[in-house]
Amino acid sequence: MEEQKGSGKRRLGVMGGTFDPIHHGHLVAASEVASQFHLDEVVFVPTGQPWQKSHKKVSPAEDRYLMTVIATASNPQFSVSRIDIDRGGPTYTTDTLRELRALNGDADLFFITGADALAQILTWRDAEELFSLAHFIGVTRPGHILADPGLPEGGVSLVEVPALAISSSDCRARVAHGDPVWYLVPDGVVRYIDKRELYRHDC
Ligand code: ATP
Ligand code: MG
Repeated sequence: MEEQKGSGKRRLGVMGGTFDPIHHGHLVAASEVASQFHLDEVVFVPTGQPWQKSHKKVSPAEDRYLMTVIATASNPQFSVSRIDIDRGGPTYTTDTLRELRALNGDADLFFITGADALAQILTWRDAEELFSLAHFIGVTRPGHILADPGLPEGGVSLVEVPALAISSSDCRARVAHGDPVWYLVPDGVVRYIDKRELYRHDC
């Protein structure tokens, strides 16, 4: 369902993620939602130490932050926030949205998340509060069928993004096997992964 402009408030998209590394799936999803929902800006928010993935190895926050900056720098509608990285500790979406609300009192927030994450939404802490802080937009991605998690009506929209079967896990595995990630991630991110020798020794 397409949201209409009208309230006159700034419309701020929020794309949270581990971004280990950021890839073209993330960028296309943000671009598509920005277009369909008439967003003024999308802020990418790399997580601190993600609690969902705390059992896995996650690259240093500064590397994930810099790759996100490199990938988004050329788009005037995209920006990157350090709030989750600088807060330290595990990232909770309520904290992210509360802080962004405090920093952007003039804006309506639209939290963009993959269908896979949306399906788990009710397992998050403070789910009720989340829906009062932002409108939630679930983007479909190949291989993830939308379950009906019993989400509150009006609080969530679903958007189909052009199918891009790209995931960060696959990009990491490719680098570990010596396979190319050209055109799966932006050129500058390929160079950065190489320069910092990320993912090479993952398996
Ligand atoms: P991993 O493979 O490690 O889980 P990921 O590719 O899912 O990584 P995340 O940083 O976890 O990347 O993703 C951030 C957000 O972007 C999540 O909500 C995720 O569902 C969504 N997302 C990831 N890849 C795509 C894609 N190809 N198309 C649309 N959304 C995506
Ligand atoms: Mg994921």
